[in-house]
Amino acid sequence: MLQVRELEHKYGAIRSLKGVSLEVNQGEVVALIGANGAGKTTLLRCISGILKPCAGSIVFEGTNIYGLPSHKVAKHGIAQVLESRHVFPKLTVMENIQMGAFLRRDSKEKIDGEIERLFEIFPRLKERVSQLAGTLSGGEQQMLVMVRAMISNPRLLILDEPSLGLAPIFIDEIFHIIPRLQQMGSTILLVEQNASMALAVADRGYVMETGSITLTDTGANLLENDQVRKLYLGEE
Ligand code: ATP
Repeated sequence: MLQVRELEHKYGAIRSLKGVSLEVNQGEVVALIGANGAGKTTLLRCISGILKPCAGSIVFEGTNIYGLPSHKVAKHGIAQVLESRHVFPKLTVMENIQMGAFLRRDSKEKIDGEIERLFEIFPRLKERVSQLAGTLSGGEQQMLVMVRAMISNPRLLILDEPSLGLAPIFIDEIFHIIPRLQQMGSTILLVEQNASMALAVADRGYVMETGSITLTDTGANLLENDQVRKLYLGEE
């Protein structure tokens, strides 16, 4: 579905991506893990068009999306949930979700039906449909931006650090939700500091170090890998 080949990016003179190649197949959950500053966010932002790479290629469902601006990448069916988790604070939860469906041409009934199905996975939001989004907790805001992205009906959902700064109970909830979204047919590319939980839900994973992919395998094999256990799972 997504093929990134030999991607290069620079911040001024600093090479932040040094020939990164990565693939995501339809229906997969793929996790990208690595230390702070490895270039994970930069890679996601190059894919979603927020940043411009300087060499390489990005092909999504057979279309070259390399260098396209983010609104055009979104039209090809890639939705990115940013680390910053921006909600519209003065709008209600439901109004925020409806913003995600803004560009869809489907009927209101169809979209309402999909919102109801998503509420089965995110019951916490259903209870809060009329609450102003700015008053939600951090974990609830994370769920809201995930639902808003899902209701845009993306072919690929990109999540940047969904567990960042959340209380353990919310982290567990987010990692329970990811397999359920996959069961509903979503394809997900996920960046996480929380490597053990990310690899546990991922079909495949990539390890990134200072701008390069250094290791790739199934999520299960990476969880067993000595180097990964030592460097990213905090084991001796
Ligand atoms: P983290 O897990 O800490 O979010 P990351 O793997 O997502 O890290 P990036 O945010 O992609 O890493 O950063 C990669 C490198 O690029 C880092 O060395 C960072 O300091 C640098 N960098 C990121 N943004 C900028 C910027 N706007 N200007 C200059 N350098 C930047």
